[in-house]
Amino acid sequence: MSIRFYNTISREKEKFEPLEAGKVRIYTCGPTVYDFAHIGNYRTFIFEDLLRRYLEYRDYEVIQAMNLTDVDDNTIRRSQEREISLTALTDEFKSAFHADLKTLNMQPAHHYPEATEYVDEMIHMISDLETKGYAYKAEDGSVYFNIEKYKQYGKLANLNPEEMVAGGRVADDSYDKEGVRDFALWKGYKPEDGDVQWDSPWGKGRPGWHIECSVMSTELLGTHFDIHCGGVDNIFPHHENEIAQSVCATGEDFVNYWLHSEYLLVDNKKMSKSLNNFYTLRDLLDQGYPAEAIRWMLITTHYRQKLNFSVARLDEALKAVNRLREFKAKLVAYEGDGTDHASEQISTAGSEFTRAMDDDLNISGGLAAIFDLVRWGNRVMVELTLSQKGAGDITALLQGFDHVLGVLDMESGLDVEVDEALIASKIADRKAARANKDFATSDAIRDELLALGIELIDTPDGTKWKLK
Ligand code: AMP
Ligand code: ZN
Repeated sequence: MSIRFYNTISREKEKFEPLEAGKVRIYTCGPTVYDFAHIGNYRTFIFEDLLRRYLEYRDYEVIQAMNLTDVDDNTIRRSQEREISLTALTDEFKSAFHADLKTLNMQPAHHYPEATEYVDEMIHMISDLETKGYAYKAEDGSVYFNIEKYKQYGKLANLNPEEMVAGGRVADDSYDKEGVRDFALWKGYKPEDGDVQWDSPWGKGRPGWHIECSVMSTELLGTHFDIHCGGVDNIFPHHENEIAQSVCATGEDFVNYWLHSEYLLVDNKKMSKSLNNFYTLRDLLDQGYPAEAIRWMLITTHYRQKLNFSVARLDEALKAVNRLREFKAKLVAYEGDGTDHASEQISTAGSEFTRAMDDDLNISGGLAAIFDLVRWGNRVMVELTLSQKGAGDITALLQGFDHVLGVLDMESGLDVEVDEALIASKIADRKAARANKDFATSDAIRDELLALGIELIDTPDGTKWKLK
């Protein structure tokens, strides 16, 4: 069986074949570090984490680069509003971003290139484009990419040639499809840029946003690599422009698979800074929502579907995570000695999970396979027909699934920390105390666990536990 991904550029699901057998190179557009990222941004980053984790689950070696945009229109504007240097501003939000990634249990990327560290290479690529006739200098010292020179321009965003304004120019980093024009590779210095400037063959100035990602991806992953991701708003103009720059500069293909995730919405509108309808991760943690609920909510809707944010969804997400955690805890504490090794169920769950996820990361199908196993497993544990081997094998399978989901062992947030090994050993101690008729110790153990939110239940088949 092979993996299939929906490729934005072909508008079809395609069989995934990496350029180098067994190895996948992924570039993911990272945050612009002028503020805290909001959970809409994290929807995209968590989708990328899911992609990365699933490819690893399928035994690919993955090399991931995620850039940090630390110079662009937004960062400069914000540093001036706050009357601090660009570096002081971006350092603050780079640290916050790395802390958030950890809280959300994202696999760290192999490279976090920062745009300001690659300005020489950007100047080099722009010069190359100028020499090859794709770029020209304007009166104000800016350099523009001439979109008419690249006949494939518009293929990713499916632009209508009539939307393109021949000879027009756009200086801003962000613009919409009505503004398809020659775009800035290099921005000549303006007084509004304050002390943010670099020397270049075209005079003082700074790079445009789009050239940053063409350069950083090429430097770290090579001129031609496998997967490039972002949110759907990156398709145009950012990724369209990246393709134009990279293909024209290197003369090679750039990216084989373009994957884009849909928006997180609030009341059916895109969560965004500009609409002021956003929540940061910190906002939600402060309101008492654990990080695993946020992670779960963001990964469990298919990445190409819009997702409306609500606190009710967070409550449901927490319940689902707890169900999985409780299942794992019960498996670990299971003392039954039945004969069912669960071989059939384990094999079905494994193959159904893979079948679903291979199909463009069909997470609902993947979760259905897992929760079928949970339902069955809970039943055979109550019936005590499950064997010890079966319990161990299901636990191992669950850990494998969790390489993809990344929620079982998250440390933060949960009101009740479930330490299965500790509970199992306390239950054993209590059993020994009761055998010695030492009821004071046995009661003390019960109360100690109760204080941790864990309730013991004595049954004819031994002591079980549940979250209070
Ligand atoms: P930015 O920091 O604005 O460059 O955005 C970082 C990433 O977040 C980009 O890949 C965007 O596509 C993505 N993004 C922004 N808003 C949302 C949203 N509401 N839902 C999903 N992804 C988003
Ligand atoms: Zn980018």
